[in-house]
Amino acid sequence: MEQRLRIEDLHIGYRTGGNTHTVIPNLSFEVESGTLISIIGRNGSGKTTLLQSIAQLLAVLQGKIYWNDTDLKPLSTQAKAKLISYVGQIPNIPPHLKLQDLLALSRNPYTNWLGNLEQSDRSQIQNVADRLDLIPWLDRPLVELSAGQKQRCLIAAALVQDTPILLLDEPSAFLDLDHKASIFKLLQEIAHKHNKIVMLSTHDLNPALQISDKILLLDRGQGTFGSVQELVRQKIFENIFHQKWVGFDPDLMQFSICV
Ligand code: ADP
Repeated sequence: MEQRLRIEDLHIGYRTGGNTHTVIPNLSFEVESGTLISIIGRNGSGKTTLLQSIAQLLAVLQGKIYWNDTDLKPLSTQAKAKLISYVGQIPNIPPHLKLQDLLALSRNPYTNWLGNLEQSDRSQIQNVADRLDLIPWLDRPLVELSAGQKQRCLIAAALVQDTPILLLDEPSAFLDLDHKASIFKLLQEIAHKHNKIVMLSTHDLNPALQISDKILLLDRGQGTFGSVQELVRQKIFENIFHQKWVGFDPDLMQFSICV
């Protein structure tokens, strides 16, 4: 059965003290399972705010987020953790935490209150570690790994959580070109082969245009949503950056810096 994430007339932002700072008013779009969607936009355009709002880590100001016909807001924390996994920017990692501990913790929505793993939890962990070539790292403290390896480990934790929706905030930040390519390829495979919704934010615009099924462009409080081809036809990309030395070539489908 086809499943979908539906964002309906969402207003996102921050309430601090008595003040409300609306980052984006009136955002609506819909994504089906098996889709990779990239959120792009300049610094401060609202990418993290949106991902955290969908992940239910930040209260929305107004509007609804539905998984199929279910409103996410009233669901229990455990029910939400079975639907959505969130990979933020690489966090500070406790010095002794090993990959296998992180993956065991990620089975939390399915274990009893003591966190005891069943055989099915263990095989889920082994399968994901195997799929992501992480078996040799299972017994290593995460702090000893490179940024690229840590990013793979965090993605592995999200996969072990086994949710239909994966949200990732700048998963390619701080990675060299080789590792960026490998992370993007992995995320595309997760969306297409495993029929998940993978929603990521990124400043790596050219790879994002290459790998994404859908793009959400955030710009000055507005969201423009569509396939890459639709947004190219609407000449949306030409106007994201205001400096004359950042250009977009619609034939090559590439941004470039003209110096
Ligand atoms: P992006 O991820 O696209 O760089 P953010 O979602 O981090 O953008 O920020 C969007 C806007 O929200 C910015 O104007 C930022 O200053 C503001 N903002 C971010 N975090 C907070 C916060 N905790 N309280 C108030 N405003 C915030």
